[in-house]
Amino acid sequence: MIATQYSTASEATGCQHSTTVLRVLGIIECRHPVASLAVLYWVAPLMGAAEVLSALNRAQAAQPAWASLSFRDRARVVLQARKIVLAELDEIGTLISRETGKPSAEALSMEIVPGLDLMHYFARHTARLLQPHKIDIGQYWLMGRSSQVVYKPLGVIGIISPWNFPWATPLAEVVMALMAGNSVVLKPSELTPLTALKIGEVFQRARLPKGLLEIVTGDGTTGAALTDAGPEAGLAKIMFTGSVATGKRVAASAAKHLTPTVLELGGKDPMIVLEDANLQSAARAAIWGAFCNAGQACASVERCYVHESIAPRFIELVVKETLALKQDNPAESEVDVGAMSNERQLRIVEEHISDALERGARVLAGGKRVKNSGGWFHEPTVVTEVDHSMDLMRDETFGPVLPILTFKTDDEAIKLANDSVYGLTASIWTRNIARGRRLATKVDAGTIMVNEVVYTHALAQTPWGGVKQSGYGRTHGRLGLLELVSPQHIHINRLSFLPDVWWFRYSTGASLLFHSLAKHFTSGSIIQSSLLLPQMIKRWRERRD
Ligand code: NDP
Repeated sequence: MIATQYSTASEATGCQHSTTVLRVLGIIECRHPVASLAVLYWVAPLMGAAEVLSALNRAQAAQPAWASLSFRDRARVVLQARKIVLAELDEIGTLISRETGKPSAEALSMEIVPGLDLMHYFARHTARLLQPHKIDIGQYWLMGRSSQVVYKPLGVIGIISPWNFPWATPLAEVVMALMAGNSVVLKPSELTPLTALKIGEVFQRARLPKGLLEIVTGDGTTGAALTDAGPEAGLAKIMFTGSVATGKRVAASAAKHLTPTVLELGGKDPMIVLEDANLQSAARAAIWGAFCNAGQACASVERCYVHESIAPRFIELVVKETLALKQDNPAESEVDVGAMSNERQLRIVEEHISDALERGARVLAGGKRVKNSGGWFHEPTVVTEVDHSMDLMRDETFGPVLPILTFKTDDEAIKLANDSVYGLTASIWTRNIARGRRLATKVDAGTIMVNEVVYTHALAQTPWGGVKQSGYGRTHGRLGLLELVSPQHIHINRLSFLPDVWWFRYSTGASLLFHSLAKHFTSGSIIQSSLLLPQMIKRWRERRD
């Protein structure tokens, strides 16, 4: 069917990994067996520890001048980059589609549009979101004290990103890190370096000063070199997005240096369809949630629980909608489901389906890889008669598969949803918003959507991150921005001519005062605290002697 999806460098060229050999990325696009060959080469070196350290050095050297600029000046660069992206929408969309196998439509809607919105949001609002603010310090203000928190850039942020959203994921973190006054060393997946290099090119053309966005291409060894560098080499924080297994390696390496990390890991996200849900909407959401990006989204719907009273009708709708989807060359505009991004992931999908079938599951639509397709295509697949003993219901499938299980009561649905080591997002479908809200608080996940699936990663304003093995820390929104700065507490004493009553030297009078402080000052009442004034004056006098 197609021969347009890039493979990895090693598959395309047979190059062995080496720190000195440049890797030629891309695949020769054959339009005719002999004659009309359009040869596309991109070069992304496999960088080793020395190159990573040089990148960190350059990023560290460039950061202070950038941090000294105003938010407005930084925003100017981000907004200029945004203009360039807008002018090259289709070219960037094609690049993402060719590198990942996703339909161009999804490259635009799931990667470029959210990226543009996020660039606008953080360019316009970072100054407000990081505004210094006063803290209420209770009764201490009576002693002429005040406290404020200011937010300082951290320095160099190391961003390690996966292949499934090669534009949206790193771009968001790059923009937020830069707006907060940091510099960045970005290590993209070896499967998608071209998209990352395009991000670098866009910022370079937007006149981002040199050194502020360093891209270190390569594989896992390059990522490990970055996490091994630690603060001694200038690395202030690691923002990692990827699998649980690699996340654990990153956390272990970071722990050796006490490098702070944010881990955005996998998911096995549940969708609960209650008996009062709008069935047509829920069915459409389920198939988009499970099959968009060929199911390779951390927030994909990977488990669907439907109330037994509506299950037959819901499953009928889901199967009908699934069979109507068009799966073909991702470059075509009317294609719904593209290819998977790599063969390793496709094999995991096949293993999960075959394990489920062996244990008694039934495939109602799809179920197998598309043969002779020229890409890693797997049919959108609906599976029923599943249970939690199956890999399909426990491990991250990360492919276009929708397993459906029925439940009898709300409590059972919540129990099933929470029976997972993951906790990234979850979704509840009901016409009763109050009921949806109530049940939402019972699900263990970083984001719960009522009558929505997957898309909240596109919201620049809201926090993104998981609980349990889905990771820790947040990206996006103010909480995400706070991961990229160091909060500094500034405390002022306006009555410095008076010695503090708790300073040396201690005495019987001091002890009596401390008892009164315990009783009255800590009560939170101004009236009670003011009763202490005579004792305080006595103590100040005592201190002057
Ligand atoms: P991996 O964990 O395999 O890789 C993620 C990144 O880490 C890649 O850049 C990879 O490089 C790099 N890497 C590999 N080994 C190391 C190492 N030892 N030290 C440092 N970096 C290393 O994940 P995938 O690329 O396969 O991405 C899929 C996973 O990402 C899924 O589990 C998915 O759920 C998760 N994900 C989570 C998201 C979230 O927001 N929670 C969003 C998107 C995806 P290379 O690829 O070159 O080997």
